[in-house]
Amino acid sequence: MPTLIRENVPLAPYTTFRLGGPARYFINARTVEDVVEGVKFALDRNLRILPLGAGSDVLISDSGFDGLVIRLANLRGVKVRGDRAYLMAGEPLPRIAREMAERGLSGFEYVVGVPGTVGGGVAKNAGAHGREIRDILVEAYVVDGEGNVRTYRRDELGLAYRSSLLPELGILVEALFKLEEDDPAAIRDRIEEFLTYRERSQPWTERTAGCMFKNPPGEYAGRLIDLAGLKGFRVGGVKVSEKHANFFVNEGGTADDAIRLIEYVRDRVRRAFGIELEVEIEIVR
Ligand SMILES: Cc1cc2nc3c(=O)[nH]c(=O)nc-3n(C[C@H](O)[C@H](O)[C@H](O)COP(=O)(O)OP(=O)(O)OC[C@H]3O[C@@H](n4cnc5c(N)ncnc54)[C@H](O)[C@@H]3O)c2cc1C
Repeated sequence: MPTLIRENVPLAPYTTFRLGGPARYFINARTVEDVVEGVKFALDRNLRILPLGAGSDVLISDSGFDGLVIRLANLRGVKVRGDRAYLMAGEPLPRIAREMAERGLSGFEYVVGVPGTVGGGVAKNAGAHGREIRDILVEAYVVDGEGNVRTYRRDELGLAYRSSLLPELGILVEALFKLEEDDPAAIRDRIEEFLTYRERSQPWTERTAGCMFKNPPGEYAGRLIDLAGLKGFRVGGVKVSEKHANFFVNEGGTADDAIRLIEYVRDRVRRAFGIELEVEIEIVR
């Protein structure tokens, strides 16, 4: 077994929800070569692969993942040429937002409160304050299922509301973004405004996976859950946040508690409003 690969690694510490069981195999990738090695290892053994960034949009089941997890949070690097930034997959979005502000480059400040990575941000087309990653993405460099690095233009990635063709197309290792020049002080002001809004409206310091459900067209999932009277409702050790009803908070529960709470909330909203909530996070089984 290559030294890079570890067995039976608990995944909960690598997620913001802090839930779920172990990975059968696990790699902490630091280079693109590590990623390629992992893909080949999985190919030889016919294993499923789960790329993991900051784990801020996943719910890992209690039984864990019976395949290879390739963690990308340590695949780091930033290259800036004029208004273009080449960012490695593991760069944290909040840190990039601040670095780009200092460089007088606008575009990432909107995701300063999204605690994910560049790779996860593209995979989920992360967005906030009316902007999305696809607004600034030019192209992505992706390791495919055979271990080859391929380039995909933005319009080939199927970027839509909180979704894309990743990770089905492969593992994003780097991406190119086109930003707008702006006054660093003006960008910093927007950053502070966005962070203040978040601290006020979201359970920012708790163990969550962000918004559980996508907003239905013309509606807010959180508003429907609140109107259904479910703020504070709990299954085991996981509850609907009192601060923002579309966030579930882990207070020492299990992934099974979270899954049961998801089903309960969907059922109640369906009965009350006839609206089917679609889960936004990735449930990994
Ligand atoms: C407190 C809080 C607030 C949040 N607010 C927002 C918000 O305002 N807007 C928003 O859009 N999201 C928000 N989120 C959700 C989350 O932060 C984003 O979806 C983020 O983009 C996920 O990035 P990640 O690196 O954590 O991805 P992960 O959770 O690690 O992975 C998410 C998915 O992307 C895939 N993936 C990850 N990295 C790669 C890669 N390199 N290549 C291919 N596939 C990959 C994974 O396999 C998985 O399917 C919030 C989450 C929290 C906890």
